[in-house]
Amino acid sequence: MTQTLNWKELGEETTQLLSELLKIDTTNPPGNERAAAEHLQKYFAQYGIECELLEKAPGRTNLIARLKGSRPGPTLMLLSHTDVVPATNPDQWRYGPFSGAVAEGYVWGRGALDMKSMTATEAVVFSLFQRLKLDFAGELLYVAVADEEMGGTYGAKFLAEEHPDKVKADFVLNEGGGMPLEIDGKTFYTVDTVEKGLWWARVTVKGTAGHGSVPHDDNPLVKSAKLIERIASYRFPKRVSPSVKAFFERVGEAFGEAGRQLAELLAAEGEKPSLEELKQMLQGTPLNPYLVNAFLRTTCSPTKIQAGLKENVIPDRCEFVLDFRYVPGYSREQIEEVLKTIADDLGVEVEIETLQHHKASESPMETDFYRIIEETIREELGAEAVPYLLTGATDSRFFREIGAVAYGFYPLSTKMSLAERAQLIHNDNERIDLESLELSVRVLTKVAMRTLQAAM
Ligand SMILES: [Zn+2]
Repeated sequence: MTQTLNWKELGEETTQLLSELLKIDTTNPPGNERAAAEHLQKYFAQYGIECELLEKAPGRTNLIARLKGSRPGPTLMLLSHTDVVPATNPDQWRYGPFSGAVAEGYVWGRGALDMKSMTATEAVVFSLFQRLKLDFAGELLYVAVADEEMGGTYGAKFLAEEHPDKVKADFVLNEGGGMPLEIDGKTFYTVDTVEKGLWWARVTVKGTAGHGSVPHDDNPLVKSAKLIERIASYRFPKRVSPSVKAFFERVGEAFGEAGRQLAELLAAEGEKPSLEELKQMLQGTPLNPYLVNAFLRTTCSPTKIQAGLKENVIPDRCEFVLDFRYVPGYSREQIEEVLKTIADDLGVEVEIETLQHHKASESPMETDFYRIIEETIREELGAEAVPYLLTGATDSRFFREIGAVAYGFYPLSTKMSLAERAQLIHNDNERIDLESLELSVRVLTKVAMRTLQAAM
């Protein structure tokens, strides 16, 4: 049915729109997403599609467009964010972070991967429903939000909390997955189904000030050092989410003996494998033991520390920040309990302040939407879908909280490896290959059409 569509041309249209979006500086902070929203509004207007612009603060614009089908059915949201992280070394870029240059087979600019490429692709997919006058069930929503990179206060969080009626959806397609993993001659495409929770805690340890020439037992730096060492090396209990279990069951075979062993250990009760065991087991495989460890349990990274003003003065306090990421089934309270127990044990008094917190979120794999993505991956890409856990966070969590099944899936070509792409995100010379833009518009059009049972 969609064979008549010229994917090459649609890929070029996506490339063009992406290039235009990359020229708009939406660095967050401060954001200034309005210019991007207005550009998308203009793009949609040429097809007679109306948009609604919503702001929590001036300039922090969120765009919503909606197409209604001819019969009842599910609501599918094509979600993206238009803000980008700062480009800290503009001189290091081959084409400039806001050039939107199309050169050497890539589109270059801050946001090319994260995530104006998906913003552009979804806009083309959305407009096709109107342009082709597709007959479909349910509703198709296009939502481009502000402020993802700073936590979503002016974007997804604002929409989900203050306009839930406007963003109510059964299924949400968002960033995160769609990375091709090539393992032992087989290709797997990741579908992000689960994200870890986050707790940034500021810990203050007090002590007694004094002269550096007369050391005593109440130096807050020494006490903090002990506490940091203990909490950072603490092994939190294993909690294997269904998605992680399924991931290793599916790719396990392709990893040979190590993969089988790993899948078995994950399925079993108990605390195995430890990080040390993972390091040994995964030697010589492309799997990163630190990442696998982060899939399985709550982790802690000390990220900031501050104490003292003068070389010869023992300070009276030390402050540090701990970045905890927790798996579904675990809670902030449980982590705090561990932290306090360790502090008690060391005889260190602590004050704990929450800087940021959000819960882990997960969508089940047993849905029609997952099955459709899986089938489309198989038919269009000749590859297998695998559910995936994101150690970081996306806006998906806000929509999961109001009842949507949200997956991260933006399929990319195999031109660049996962490691190469991961290295470019939030980094200099961010770029996306043209093949990925053509591939994604084709695959996501088919996913959307199947989900809404569309026919031409
Ligand atoms: Zn992003």
